[in-house]
Amino acid sequence: MQYISTRGGAPAVSASQAIMNGIAPDGGLYVPEAWPEISVDWDTLSHQTYTEIATQIFDAFFDDFSVSEIDHIICKAYGRQWDNEKIITLHQENNLHYIELFHGPTLAFKDVALQALPHLLTTAAKKQAISDKVVILTATSGDTGTAAMSGFADVPNTEIVVFYPEVGVSDIQRQQMVSETGKNAHVTAITGNFDDAQKAVKTLLSNQKLIQELADHHMRFSSANSINIGRLVPQIVYYFYSYAQLIKQKNIKVGDKINIVVPTGNFGNVLAAYYASQIGLPVNEFVVASNENNVLTDFFTTGVYDSKRPFKVTNAPAMDILVSSNLERLLYFASDRDASEVQSYMTALANEGQYKLSERTRRNLKQFKSSFATQAQVSDTILSVFNQTNYLIDPHTAVGRYVYQSISNQAMPTLLAATASPYKFPQTMLSALGDKPIEGAEALTRLSSKTNTDIPSQVVTLFDKPILHQKVITPNDILKSLKTELFDK
Ligand SMILES: *Cc1c(COP(=O)(O)O)cnc(C)c1O
Repeated sequence: MQYISTRGGAPAVSASQAIMNGIAPDGGLYVPEAWPEISVDWDTLSHQTYTEIATQIFDAFFDDFSVSEIDHIICKAYGRQWDNEKIITLHQENNLHYIELFHGPTLAFKDVALQALPHLLTTAAKKQAISDKVVILTATSGDTGTAAMSGFADVPNTEIVVFYPEVGVSDIQRQQMVSETGKNAHVTAITGNFDDAQKAVKTLLSNQKLIQELADHHMRFSSANSINIGRLVPQIVYYFYSYAQLIKQKNIKVGDKINIVVPTGNFGNVLAAYYASQIGLPVNEFVVASNENNVLTDFFTTGVYDSKRPFKVTNAPAMDILVSSNLERLLYFASDRDASEVQSYMTALANEGQYKLSERTRRNLKQFKSSFATQAQVSDTILSVFNQTNYLIDPHTAVGRYVYQSISNQAMPTLLAATASPYKFPQTMLSALGDKPIEGAEALTRLSSKTNTDIPSQVVTLFDKPILHQKVITPNDILKSLKTELFDK
């Protein structure tokens, strides 16, 4: 199976090449040329473990990897670093089933893919006979950087370089980054906000002289961004696994359709659910849940994508996004694989900040519904779900829970992606529960005693760990700083 670009201007490549490239050379995203044929026998799947199902999905999408290569990757990705041997678990509230995706090392769903990506990348490099060291360079507003660092830490032949803004990451996220012990991890604070950090990093990724210098040192940049198919495919697995579990628990019968609600930012997670439906998962409706940055809600209700609006910093920060990159892939399929139509939308987005769907493409998106939650609604939802059901949900999951309540059919069996542990955002949780927000380890203990829930083992000793990364730079010094990190150590 080959991967082709959504914009139609790049050669078809194998899975391992697509993983190495990240983005296609024409600026498009890689999509499978045809959906892989997998034989879906739900009765069998309902008795399989997470890693058994993962192996089949990986085999289908990464078909130039050998059986033993896939086994190795799965084994490295889904081992003892998870606090639950099942990898993901379900929590039931009537017809609603939360998929708890936060049992990995950094307590957010991004671990599911970012524990696998480093091994996919290093294996792909070997297959392509590339001996260069892979340098992952990323600016982070929180969750991506911590999850990428944890995934890449001490993976041979990789360096992981993370720049985080001094302003805007939570104290848990900062402490996760500055205490990272991986020998190949480089963590630097950058003065300013996330936008400043991201702009500075982008100047590096497009600096041809730097790219040449890296090559002279036998290194090359790669991306841990969610546009990489190596991040998308691992996320298909949990929708299959969850559906199979619903059968096993007799919540549904084989073939019953379900709804899927996903708190959405860059559109990666909900796109994975759509991919799952294309290879055999029976889905009635995809519910795209936004926060106050509700570009996608407007898009699915009007057919116009309009990114020209103020950016809001909210209490569900991992969803604070105005341009959802992975939506481009959905447009490709909704336009019946019309790359020139996708190209015209993306050109309009780049030049005018907006585009309007053709009627035909819009009709093909009928399965998608969307609504949003304000910050006050997020807080209220956390409190009411806890009071009524004694279940603690994080602010991102609360966005999904609120939207489910407001627009979804409650009689329909529904999966809701619970994307982070409440313990990743203790300040927001405490204030939602009517407490005064406090910082650091104290906030974790307070949340635990107030709600009678356990502090996840991943963060119990987080604030006792020594700080290993103290460097702070201005955006102007980013090039010098990167070279020191990579070449002088
Ligand atoms: C990244 C993230 C999201 C958004 O996921 P996308 O795939 O970007 O749509 C939602 N919740 C949490 C906790 C996240 O870290």
